[in-house]
Amino acid sequence: MSDIAVDLVVLGGGSGGYSAALRASQLGMSVALVEKDKVGGTCLHVGCIPTKALLHAAEVADNARDAAKFGVAATLHGVDVAGVSAYRQGIIDSKFKGLQGLLKARGIQTIDGYGTLTSANTVQVGDTTITGKNVVLATGSYSKTIPGLEIGGRILTSEQALTLDYVPNKAIVLGGGVIGVEFSSVWRSWGSDVTIIEGLPRLVPNEDESVSKQFERAFRKRGIEFKTGVRFESATQDEHGVTVTLEGGETVTGDVLLVAIGRGAATANCGFENVGVTMDRGYVLTNERLQTNIPGVYAVGDIVPGLQLAHRGYQHGIFVAEEIAGLNPIVVSDINIPKVTYSEPEIASVGLSETKAKEQYGDAQIATYDYNLAGNGKSHILETSGSIKVIRVVDGPVVGVHMIGARVGELIGEAQMIVNWEAHPEDIAPHLHAHPTQNEALGEAFLALAGKPLHAM
Ligand SMILES: Cc1cc2nc3c(=O)[nH]c(=O)nc-3n(C[C@H](O)[C@H](O)[C@H](O)COP(=O)(O)OP(=O)(O)OC[C@H]3O[C@@H](n4cnc5c(N)ncnc54)[C@H](O)[C@@H]3O)c2cc1C
Repeated sequence: MSDIAVDLVVLGGGSGGYSAALRASQLGMSVALVEKDKVGGTCLHVGCIPTKALLHAAEVADNARDAAKFGVAATLHGVDVAGVSAYRQGIIDSKFKGLQGLLKARGIQTIDGYGTLTSANTVQVGDTTITGKNVVLATGSYSKTIPGLEIGGRILTSEQALTLDYVPNKAIVLGGGVIGVEFSSVWRSWGSDVTIIEGLPRLVPNEDESVSKQFERAFRKRGIEFKTGVRFESATQDEHGVTVTLEGGETVTGDVLLVAIGRGAATANCGFENVGVTMDRGYVLTNERLQTNIPGVYAVGDIVPGLQLAHRGYQHGIFVAEEIAGLNPIVVSDINIPKVTYSEPEIASVGLSETKAKEQYGDAQIATYDYNLAGNGKSHILETSGSIKVIRVVDGPVVGVHMIGARVGELIGEAQMIVNWEAHPEDIAPHLHAHPTQNEALGEAFLALAGKPLHAM
């Protein structure tokens, strides 16, 4: 292939990279997008999309198992893992095809191969040198493990867990964060015994403490075991199973061990250090406008320290393209990024936790209201429990929304608008929420916070 010169070179075709490419081409730039594997990256192929397909298959299994509760005669005979895989892969294939078509339709030149940054404005792919007026680094992340804990056999990362061709009788999950609880939820719905091991004092430790407590209660009720505040020491495996030893000597056995302790930045051997990009433990450091220390070189997505979420990557990508085009876009701030923990139950949150809000504004300046989903008709119909906690500054805006219950992830859109637009509960109160929806619960919480609760005290 001959050398290529474009306005923008994007290294990595995941959520962050491809959205930068799409927005840049929309703004009239010529774009080359370098991808060593498949455009769509982690989210499409081994992250958000496939896990949500598994969770849906888990929900179907729960519905079949619990059908009699709703007066429907059904029996759960088991889970056909091959069938689930075909369903999951069908969605990925279709979305992958759609994305390839979109990139092509927008005139983006996709270059297959491993790219290395060789100067402030060049990326090398095999014999081809791609020169850009600007460069976006978007090489993503990988599943981390603990030194000495080797992945292989029965010891899995989320990538292998996704394609496991059987339902484990007993699963051990190391890490009670988003990915760990997601798989725990799926396996439990499919009939596995699950034990989660979490070093911090609570499951989903990045969420508001009251939400974590309710989540733990819900998982306990589902029969999911967990050990919090304990440290992993070692793991061994043989043909019969895996044994995990915890600090203090306690052991846990299972058929598989899922290591879900977080993700590191996938930047090794990409040439960044050689070109002088400032890095910290593999992450690329940027200013708030996502510029690295090298003029013309930007970074987006999981390689930038902070929340590792696909929609953050999308927004980073859009931001950088607009920044290069001189449109002065609004900074993407991590605190106002909506977060969803997909499991049964779901957690959805945006903004400050109660503790953080009090730290920032002082105890007396913060008012909260916790609306119990028991008062919400649709939640009752769905037989889900949970709550919606809303946090405001006294006489000021809403600074946090924290929800737990089945399907509450679908409510985060309104919540994030409210927090990001710095709405006051009094602004929200006159706006209607359709009855009977779970969304109504959000409306009720804000009515209460505005001092005029309807179906609550
Ligand atoms: C199990 C799991 C579930 C998840 N669920 C969710 C979810 O529900 N919601 C959510 O918001 N987020 C979720 N995430 C996180 C989400 O997938 C990531 O935040 C997102 O994919 C980050 O996008 P990115 O563009 O930064 O990186 P990636 O998506 O990792 O893309 C990076 C791309 O760069 C390519 N690349 C790397 N190095 C090179 C190189 N040298 N040359 C060429 N190409 C290269 C890679 O092949 C890859 O395609 C999940 C992640 C996992 C693992």
